[in-house]
Amino acid sequence: METGFLMNWPLPRSAYIHVPFCRHRCGYCNFSVVADRDDLMDRYLAAIDRELEQLASTANRAPVLDTLFVGGGTPTHLPIERLQRFLQSLRRHFELAEGFEWTMEANPEDITAEKLEVMSGIGVNRVSLGIQSFDDRKLAVLERSHSGRSAAEVIQQVAEQIPNVSIDLIFAAPGETVSAWAEDLRIAASLPITHVSTYSLTYEKGTSFWTRRHRGDLSEVDESTEIAMYDLGREVFAAAGLLHYEISSFAKSGYRCRHNLAYWQGDPWYAAGPGAAAFVDGQRVMNHRSTTTYLKRIENRENPIAESETISAEEAGREGVAFGVRMIDGVDLSQIHARTGVDIGSLYARPLERLQAQGLIRRTGDHIQLTARGIHFADTVARELLG
Ligand code: SF4
Repeated sequence: METGFLMNWPLPRSAYIHVPFCRHRCGYCNFSVVADRDDLMDRYLAAIDRELEQLASTANRAPVLDTLFVGGGTPTHLPIERLQRFLQSLRRHFELAEGFEWTMEANPEDITAEKLEVMSGIGVNRVSLGIQSFDDRKLAVLERSHSGRSAAEVIQQVAEQIPNVSIDLIFAAPGETVSAWAEDLRIAASLPITHVSTYSLTYEKGTSFWTRRHRGDLSEVDESTEIAMYDLGREVFAAAGLLHYEISSFAKSGYRCRHNLAYWQGDPWYAAGPGAAAFVDGQRVMNHRSTTTYLKRIENRENPIAESETISAEEAGREGVAFGVRMIDGVDLSQIHARTGVDIGSLYARPLERLQAQGLIRRTGDHIQLTARGIHFADTVARELLG
């Protein structure tokens, strides 16, 4: 069995660009973000331009992309002239293939008609809004700057200009009840969205929420309530025609996020910006998470990469099944075998049998799928498969 390096990785057809700027850091956020450092924006724009130029020259041409995802941070926090310059730089350094998907993450408080015009004029055709909730009290707990009312208005406004609108919602916030969450879901389902991702609030080390929970200032929602909230989301969105296609994601027909699908299917991707992680030619590399270190390195013509790791065929196969099983339709082991040369079915026969015996996965020939119970324990399944 082949367990060494993979032979022929295809060229990436996806790219992720990280924009680190935010107005302030929300208490639960541990992303690579700089809050209230707009003074770094021009240096960032120059650095991204240089990093992308380097990427194109290594590849000998502008990479051809099916999906481009601009995330953060808050990309739309860039003021309009800078936003325009930034998007033009991306446009110059990538060639977008026919039928491309270009997503921009955005926060409701930054959206203006002019910014939407600039975004759609340059080619952005999908907007992912960090809504989190429509409930002002919950938004205040989460330290978000917008109101529930403005969130709903902005969704309408964006949909008129760029009709492919995704929103993120958070559940299990401190003090949240199932009926409060039901109201968030009801409002979301009534709005013109094509896609929604729901995440239960997690308390990450290094965040102020983590410290406050330890001090007893914030209390976690109990597990049974969290599961009830998750299931309610599935029910409400199914009734609204948003199909549950991945553990945290729901989409109208034809609107699954193609960029995320590329990650979950184990496809390679380029990345640029502070803390951005790429997967190219069997190598996983991550840029420095600190924006100032990233900027200094690029400005000094040094490599911005902080970590790199070569992925063996076996790791690629294992990740293929661990991430692939997050898809509600399941994952095909024969496809992973064809892509990586690794026969996961034999190599992981034991853990697969254990997960089956625990009622977490169903196996039909080469097809693996989470059971209704397994959907609630997707992280446990992934951990078991990653070894
Ligand atoms: S807006 Fe998003 S990226 Fe920025 S600090 Fe808040 S959670 Fe983090």
